[in-house]
Amino acid sequence: MDVIVAGDRAGLVKAKHSLGIGASGATLALVPTMGALHEGHRSLIRLAREQADHVAVSVFVNPLQFGPNEDFSRYPRTFDADLETCADEGVSIVFAPSADDMYAADRQVSVSSGRMGTIVEGAFRPGHFDGVLTVVLKLFNLVQPDIAVFGRKDAQQLAMIRRMVADLDVPVSVMGAPTVREADGLALSSRNRYLSTHERHTALSLSRALFIGARGRTPAEVLAESRAVLDAEPGVELDYLVLVDPATFTEVGDDHRGEAVLAVAARVGATRLIDNVTVTL
Ligand code: AMP
Repeated sequence: MDVIVAGDRAGLVKAKHSLGIGASGATLALVPTMGALHEGHRSLIRLAREQADHVAVSVFVNPLQFGPNEDFSRYPRTFDADLETCADEGVSIVFAPSADDMYAADRQVSVSSGRMGTIVEGAFRPGHFDGVLTVVLKLFNLVQPDIAVFGRKDAQQLAMIRRMVADLDVPVSVMGAPTVREADGLALSSRNRYLSTHERHTALSLSRALFIGARGRTPAEVLAESRAVLDAEPGVELDYLVLVDPATFTEVGDDHRGEAVLAVAARVGATRLIDNVTVTL
């Protein structure tokens, strides 16, 4: 069946009605994206399809989550290819609003990500998580899915969305999906297309550092071994390398046992990349 493309709330209501979604009818899973779909997004869609009768994919490059010096205007936009990917993966609805559809000029109210939005990634991108949570809550309200699927590639984003759903009693169940990587370890990202061949080679040190660090037996060992890999790579400008609690993103102490997230953010040339792995101590 063809993908139904909707651009606003009325279009969504019509699409859902024609598919029998809602009330006690068919179930719907939402996969929010900023487009430029790759194999990582496909894996989210496949997981979503296993969980619900229909899948909606939103494609929206959210201006609210980009800082003034970030890549909003040059972020890749490949809508026709994205539609083909969605059709290929059996997506029922693509929701692709314009910025004007999403944000009224006189809007006032938004979601605050709290203290958790100011640490780790939030410390380097002020306002980013407020923008993410605001758009995700709006997408939840517009699409009204039963389930929403997010990648663990953006581990703090996933933790923050879980926090919002708990704190604001949002009636959507949130699922995390594993990070999809290239054969050589590089985490797939829409931003990888900014990398030159040489930069891509340099960028491989991020995943290498995480995999080597993850073999450590204590938090101090994990961080030291991971750090050594990054320090040996001249083209990597590190923003942070941290070992944090998966739910709160606060740094774990050296006596921590159980799961933790080893997260890295760095700039390679003009491209900022993030990655993480789960470590069991
Ligand atoms: P984005 O389009 O970059 O905003 O990402 C949309 C969703 O895809 C988010 O939930 C991301 O965490 C997820 N995602 C991005 N890259 C990957 C990847 N390599 N593996 C799994 N999920 C990913």
